[in-house]
Amino acid sequence: MEHRLTRRGFLKVAGLGGATLLGAGGALAQAPVPAPSPPGPPPTDAAAPAAPRLAPRSIPTRPLGRTGVSVPILALGGMFDTRSAQLYLRQTLAWGVTHWDTADCYENGNSEEGFGRYFQRSPDDRAKVFLVSKSDSTEPAGMTALLEQSLKRLSTSYIDLYLLHGIRDAAVLTPEVKDWAARAKADGRIRHFGFSCHKRMDALLEAAASLGWIDVVMTAVNYRLLADAKMSAALEACRKAGVGVIRMKFKGGGPITPDDDAEARMAAGFLKRGFTPEQAMLKALWEHPAIATVCASMKSFGVLQEYVAAAFDKTTLAIDDRAALQRFATETHGTFCRACGACEAASGGAPVADAMRCLMYESAYGDAHRARDAFLALPQRQRARLDGSNWTDAELACPHGLPIGRLLADARSRFGK
Ligand code: SF4
Repeated sequence: MEHRLTRRGFLKVAGLGGATLLGAGGALAQAPVPAPSPPGPPPTDAAAPAAPRLAPRSIPTRPLGRTGVSVPILALGGMFDTRSAQLYLRQTLAWGVTHWDTADCYENGNSEEGFGRYFQRSPDDRAKVFLVSKSDSTEPAGMTALLEQSLKRLSTSYIDLYLLHGIRDAAVLTPEVKDWAARAKADGRIRHFGFSCHKRMDALLEAAASLGWIDVVMTAVNYRLLADAKMSAALEACRKAGVGVIRMKFKGGGPITPDDDAEARMAAGFLKRGFTPEQAMLKALWEHPAIATVCASMKSFGVLQEYVAAAFDKTTLAIDDRAALQRFATETHGTFCRACGACEAASGGAPVADAMRCLMYESAYGDAHRARDAFLALPQRQRARLDGSNWTDAELACPHGLPIGRLLADARSRFGK
């Protein structure tokens, strides 16, 4: 279901079935790219293509902040059951996607298990991979237990980058956590340390830049947010401080599916240039000086091939391309939650932005399974706060006028309580 959003626009504009998306003289004529894959399940070995269509060369790399490590500009998001995707994992390495991202909770551990299965079978490949995992605990004792579990599942003695998963507040970055990270590095169990965040991202990026012991932040910045003044300042602070920044959720979708006409207009423009909209969105991020890499969900060989081709391709976006992205962002701003948290302050701390993110997994990424899992993973006490019926103050506080009450009712009915 990965391509539901833009595929619909393409079909509307071009009447495409399985036809190529390459435009005449388009940048991607240099590297064969298939049409976006139709909706489908996560990759499995049975879905492996008969022969790779891209030459086995490496995609560009960039320094990851002050870590001393260079990573490919495209990273594999591992939020799927990787156990039955062993050939797919091998192909990511063949194409230079040597940065693999997972977490203790992804697919109830089956994401880490699948990576571990790969390293058991191909131990020489472990050193080729920049391996990232995350802890859902922010307490040192819990972090120790989860790190040990991750090392075991991943069949490795070290993790290259270990992140606190989805923190909401810099208050969890305590001196005890700092000491824990220093000890884990000294013991050789992790190489670098940081956190991921989905909301109040500008404030958390600023905190990372000022603390001095956070190596990397993984955050959900996308083309919609690049022009935001606070976000720009926070990214610049990280760049100056040497904090590596990894982007995720690069498509910038929101809890409401944008209208077909706006989507079709954007798709038509990129079609002429030879890009898919996703390739343009990736390029917009890669052209930003503070970015090290984009971690992308690539749940089919076709999507992997499409994004890898964009990484190989050296064509930069034209002014008109950037304008098209911004125009689409402006036309659809009321469908996108910026996770600013203004509504949460106005509603007594209800995790509204988290619920919006869950809806986004389904509306923008077509992943109902992930949407429901993420919603049910919210702590029960927090989820109970979403049961209120009066969201007037929250809606008045939302700078983008999202219909919060209606969307929360939708989330509750879709995902359960
Ligand atoms: S105020 Fe609006 S944009 Fe901000 S978190 Fe709430 S719903 Fe999202």
